[in-house]
Amino acid sequence: MTSPERLASFPRKHFAFLPTPIVEMPRLSKLLGGPRLFVKRDDQTGLAFGGNKTRKLEFLVGEAISQGCDCLITGGAAQSNHCRQTAAAAAASGLACHLALGGTAPEIPGGNLLLDGLLGATIHWGGPKRKGEDIPLIAEELRKAGKHPYIIPYGGSNPVGALGYVEAAREAASQFDELGLEPAALVFASSSGGTHAGLEVGARLFGLESRLVGVAIDKFEGEGPSLSERIKDIIERTWALLTPDPSSPPPNFAPILREDFLGKGYGVVGEAEREAIGLAAKTEGLLLDPVYSGRAFAGLLAMIRGGEFAAGDSVLFWHTGGSPALFPYAADLVSIPATGPH
Ligand SMILES: *Cc1c(COP(=O)(O)O)cnc(C)c1O
Repeated sequence: MTSPERLASFPRKHFAFLPTPIVEMPRLSKLLGGPRLFVKRDDQTGLAFGGNKTRKLEFLVGEAISQGCDCLITGGAAQSNHCRQTAAAAAASGLACHLALGGTAPEIPGGNLLLDGLLGATIHWGGPKRKGEDIPLIAEELRKAGKHPYIIPYGGSNPVGALGYVEAAREAASQFDELGLEPAALVFASSSGGTHAGLEVGARLFGLESRLVGVAIDKFEGEGPSLSERIKDIIERTWALLTPDPSSPPPNFAPILREDFLGKGYGVVGEAEREAIGLAAKTEGLLLDPVYSGRAFAGLLAMIRGGEFAAGDSVLFWHTGGSPALFPYAADLVSIPATGPH
């Protein structure tokens, strides 16, 4: 079996509206004095407000169903987009969903958390634990109660989840062919590593030659492997899932991870994010989010202003979603000036 045949042979439940569109951003390019800018709209994958986790969940839920599991468990921050999409995927598959969330129950939930409840997920509050630390505990309790849980790690970032972005790289490569586009770089938010790893593997398999530039969102706090080590680990294991000849060594991957746009840490909205969110909204009618795509777009703006691209280059921003978090972050966003860049 070839690698593309292997990819197609994994169990997959189709939730996403694919392919997601690629849209040009001519007003923004003009305002910045080039390069030509495009956006890949993975904020529009369709599952309960969409986002990048939907692509991973197609393969993760596919595996859960093939194993006869009856509930999904995952975890993250209280405003996790991943948890909200997992809750939706569970509902759409007739599975129960348990979420290990950081923080404590607010009086009235908003944003993603409100949606988790509407989608029928059971919430387990973990206080300071916002990376799914309680998942094994919850799984154990469910097993004792006679359930068959399927564990989805933080961010859905393991080799099976990453297959969603291997497939996305195939999709993008074929869109670039159709559009006659050869982006110099694809820029996207990177946080638990599955998106980045999947794109790296998919780019090798499907001949995507653009530079892949992940913008780190979450400061590495010194425990366990760093994000770039995790990305490399997921790359190797995803490659191993797909290579027909396990004895042939994997190619040399050198993922580019920009860690110079971390601001004051995860989920802290600074001036750079505010400017990016305001600029995309007022120039292109494009909604980013306060935690991930706002920060990654701020990184892209800084790279453009720093002269990292030629005016004749095409650069694609891969929008990974997250807009439901705009509402609970309202207090951080109201200071964005009301007038546009005209
Ligand atoms: C999870 C998430 C990311 C990061 O993707 P990873 O695969 O975890 O690196 C980026 N953007 C948004 C909106 C997300 O929810």
